[in-house]
Amino acid sequence: MASDILLMNATLIGLNGRTAVKTGSYLGISGDTITYIGTKKPSGKFAKIIDTKGKIVMPGLINCHTHSPMSIYRGLADDTSLFEWLNDHIWPVEREFINESNIELASGISIAEMIRSGTTTFSDMYFHSDITEKVADEAGIRSVLGEAVIDIPAPVFRVTEDHWEKKAAVKKAESLSVPALVPHSPYSCSKDMLKKMKEVSKKNNILIHTHISETRSEVEKLRKETGRSPVEYLDEIKFLDSDTIAVHCVILSDSDIKILAKRQVRIVHCPQSNLKLGSGVARIREMLDSGLLIGLGTDGPASNNTLDMFSEMKTASLLHKGVNEDPLLLPAKQVFEMATIRGAEVLGLDKITGSIEKGKKADIVIVDAGSIHMTPMYDPYSHIVYSAKGSDVETVIINGRIVMENRKLLTIKEEALKKKAAILSVNIRNFKKSLEGKK
Ligand SMILES: [Zn+2]
Repeated sequence: MASDILLMNATLIGLNGRTAVKTGSYLGISGDTITYIGTKKPSGKFAKIIDTKGKIVMPGLINCHTHSPMSIYRGLADDTSLFEWLNDHIWPVEREFINESNIELASGISIAEMIRSGTTTFSDMYFHSDITEKVADEAGIRSVLGEAVIDIPAPVFRVTEDHWEKKAAVKKAESLSVPALVPHSPYSCSKDMLKKMKEVSKKNNILIHTHISETRSEVEKLRKETGRSPVEYLDEIKFLDSDTIAVHCVILSDSDIKILAKRQVRIVHCPQSNLKLGSGVARIREMLDSGLLIGLGTDGPASNNTLDMFSEMKTASLLHKGVNEDPLLLPAKQVFEMATIRGAEVLGLDKITGSIEKGKKADIVIVDAGSIHMTPMYDPYSHIVYSAKGSDVETVIINGRIVMENRKLLTIKEEALKKKAAILSVNIRNFKKSLEGKK
């Protein structure tokens, strides 16, 4: 049997049994696909053999929600509420700096960070998504991309993209990107726009991905305007169904959770962003008890401020144990699944990625388990969630292509990105200072 890449001495986790561990294994990759998993060395010639002794081999992580072109605003404004952060800091700067070359640079920075920390698929919400798609394809990372739509004028920022509909209908055969529809939120999109986007989602059979009930003030504002919570309002306009991905869902009533469960809405939990913006803690226990499907996301690099899914997994697990006073809640294996196979299910990609299985695309991460903070090792799942960091990822394979080997990125010119970012950050800082001077 001919495989292009063979991993040997592998400790495999995230297999089709989902939380089993297989040691001393061989894993063969032919083209873009996993073609062999077993304890005997397969016959045939391999272009590349990787000895993974002392490492953990796992499926690539799935970041179900981010805004990758916001990396250039990382650390520009912290320690504020969501609305202050958007109105006073992010939107004025974005209005000045959103252009194709900055989107290309910022997407590249985020994608480099994601690959470095073991993410092999990300779902993005931003403008000029065709540029992000080009950067993602060149880097060889899998993505779910749509053009962000905001059509209610924000005080300082307004974008009405008329090409979102065309983009949604096109899936380029050669691209690793899958189209989605991404209205920003029920508070920044009109009822007509939300209804229209839902129609297009149904017509093209693609997922629709939006922020829902992230903060208390947004929920109260919508209640004042419509007499409904965001979930009730969206249900009333028939926006919620099993093709809807609801990001955040922090402020939910019991009845909201029932509606989401009834409509089989897919949920994305972004614990670090919710904590940093002081938005609150999503009712993950109740949502899980209601049978809702939940994936994990980092949210954007300007509100997190990293895209490291390892740290997101750990936060998710610790946060809900703590607030519920229940150490049994969100055990390591469950959180690991949320960051892999459940995330793939949320994005509708579980047939091709999210676990290590023969016949699935080869989206594989090799983690160095030999460092002192992972010594000794009893349970690889425990180490991945509670001990590992993104920087422990050593090699990343996406769609059968090695995109990082021994910590060296092979598809991205990282030093060039750093140099460009240093220059751009001076302009952004000066612009922000000039705005503050005008106040
Ligand atoms: Zn977001």
